Amino acid sequence: MLPLVIAPHPLLRQVAVPIDISAGRLKLRSFVKEMYKAMLHYDGIGLAAPQVGQSWRLMVMNTPGQPMAYFNPEILKTSWRKIIIEEGCLSVPDVYGLVKRPTRVQVRYQTIEGELKQAWLDGLWARVYQHEVDHLNGVLFIDKTKKFIKGAELVEKYLGNKKSNSLF
Ligand SMILES: [Zn+2]
Repeated sequence: MLPLVIAPHPLLRQVAVPIDISAGRLKLRSFVKEMYKAMLHYDGIGLAAPQVGQSWRLMVMNTPGQPMAYFNPEILKTSWRKIIIEEGCLSVPDVYGLVKRPTRVQVRYQTIEGELKQAWLDGLWARVYQHEVDHLNGVLFIDKTKKFIKGAELVEKYLGNKKSNSLF
């Protein structure tokens, strides 16, 4: 099983690099399988590559039916409407907090075949997608949390020398 990278590990604060799918499809296919396995094993609904040790722009979500992999995922547009939802993160164990994010997002990503896809997501999957893209940009949900529901006392440890927005 791929081990989880836990905050404040510096890998979680790096901006991940784009993936050239054609350069290593076979290797990527087996890595995505490992990511699916890890996501299910650790009981996550989404997982970004930096959380399992690779600073690549790749993430997976446990979408209904079968999990999906998103290569070089982008957010093109966001809804004006925002919603506050409780979030947690496998890399920030035992902390839960309220995060405000757009309700809907227009996304673009590549499949393992290198096909470019575009879609609007809403509900849970809009939320997970935004959380995982944040990971690829070195951002954790605790940076954006205004109110912690559980584990507030652990947050400073996970932030390391990064200052929390919630202090302001
Ligand atoms: Zn996370």
